[in-house]
Amino acid sequence: MSTTPQPTHHEPDAPRDLVGIGIGPCNLSLAALAHPLAELDTAFYEQHPTFTWHPGQLIEGTTIQVPFLADLVTLADPTSPWTFLNYLKTRDRLFPFYFAERFHIHRAEYDAYGRWVAENLPGLHFRHQVDAVRWNPEHDLFEVDFTQLDKNGETEALGRTYTQNVVLGIGTEPHIPDPLKPLVQTPAVPVIHATDYLDHRDTLLAAGHITVIGSGQSGAEIFLDLLRNRPTGREKLHWLGRTEAFAPMEYSKLGLEHFTPDYTRYFHALTEDVRDRLVTSQWQLHKAIDTATIAAIHDELYRRTLHGGWPDAVLTPGVRVRTAGRMATTKIELHLEHTQQNTRSRLTTDAVVLATGYRERPLDHILAGLDPYLRRDSRERPRVDDQYRLVLDPSVTGTAYVQNAERHTHGIGTPDLGLAAWRSATILNSLTQKEPYPLPTRTAFTTFGLEQPTTPALKGTPASW
Ligand SMILES: Cc1cc2nc3c(=O)[nH]c(=O)nc-3n(C[C@H](O)[C@H](O)[C@H](O)COP(=O)(O)OP(=O)(O)OC[C@H]3O[C@@H](n4cnc5c(N)ncnc54)[C@H](O)[C@@H]3O)c2cc1C
Repeated sequence: MSTTPQPTHHEPDAPRDLVGIGIGPCNLSLAALAHPLAELDTAFYEQHPTFTWHPGQLIEGTTIQVPFLADLVTLADPTSPWTFLNYLKTRDRLFPFYFAERFHIHRAEYDAYGRWVAENLPGLHFRHQVDAVRWNPEHDLFEVDFTQLDKNGETEALGRTYTQNVVLGIGTEPHIPDPLKPLVQTPAVPVIHATDYLDHRDTLLAAGHITVIGSGQSGAEIFLDLLRNRPTGREKLHWLGRTEAFAPMEYSKLGLEHFTPDYTRYFHALTEDVRDRLVTSQWQLHKAIDTATIAAIHDELYRRTLHGGWPDAVLTPGVRVRTAGRMATTKIELHLEHTQQNTRSRLTTDAVVLATGYRERPLDHILAGLDPYLRRDSRERPRVDDQYRLVLDPSVTGTAYVQNAERHTHGIGTPDLGLAAWRSATILNSLTQKEPYPLPTRTAFTTFGLEQPTTPALKGTPASW
């Protein structure tokens, strides 16, 4: 099938069927699966000039943590022209890929694949920052206000579009815990969040002593990259993590079934309290470190002992940074606490990388105009139903869907690329009410729970006990 863009016919002021906000992998997946549905008039808006996937963390050699089959479309429709394999075909790279026998592709390759899809799909509007979504009860439509940006990111024009349905896919933003916030206001010393790592890598490598804070995958990858590029015996590196160990990501076959539609359905049907408890307790399923990265770190450390001596690298888990501040003008002092020993100490360093994770970008600002219609849970988070619809007052006849903003209702699989195509297909099935993407009713060998959530008893559904 050709990937040639087919311009969608759209009268300038006519309302769209669906407007997407943000073009990260989640909404790009939705746009790709919506593409063949000729009856749908869609438009997607993204503030950046082009599709990029965490560009500051495309460290050479790093791979995605899910098999390449978790591309934008395959798990919903392997016959789509927007598969990763079709991307390779357009690049004449199928044979090298076949012999490479790689299930986990380079992160830079996933980024390039996404850009290929974004450059060839119609209906995507880059350099458009969405400012507000409102419900217009007179016209029964959503109003979406946006700012069109020029190539310097400055306002070029303001615009508004109307739509019957919206889908928010605005992703995540870097998270900096409160005690570490004073650090980023220290311009004389390099203190950067992992999201900006590659932009500052040379400056970091030139620093006398570097501290990496955070024991997740990003912290591990950055520590490894710095380690590999510091002189043997004079590494001058600290790697601190809050978790009790530099723990491996749970990657057993049955463990991975927590990232299936079956588990997502089970989780969604649990009570709010239980869901909140589970998300915290399941950290090792998604926040820990891939075993290959742990092995590579150990290999690199070991290699540095071959000629005697130990590398000048301190790796300590179980450490909380209590406070942090500037010393003189060019140094940072970290006040540390070891939670198990109940001991405290100070560390002076010349550069800090905050690998302290990401949080869902709050919807409140964009959705301020929808606030009177939004139904919330006991912790004031938006309620999201099993078809990824925000629960709104029944007077709102349009639907607002969310992608990757529903961890509190759908669980730890929410940001996972392996569920993106399935979620997009679920949304399109809900939107069209026609099931353009028939989805399997059973996706795991594990039967989660004694009673099954209210899924239709179709073939393949586990027996109820
Ligand atoms: C470094 C890193 C590596 C990861 N690796 C993996 C992995 O290997 N496997 C896996 O399963 N998951 C991985 N994830 C988790 C997750 O899949 C990705 O974060 C993914 O990018 C989420 O896609 P998204 O579309 O929800 O959000 P994003 O990729 O964050 O995209 C959201 C987009 O919305 C845009 N936007 C926001 N607000 C507006 C606005 N007001 N107007 C217009 N545009 C707006 C943003 O500019 C952005 O481009 C990783 C995450 C990180 C941070």
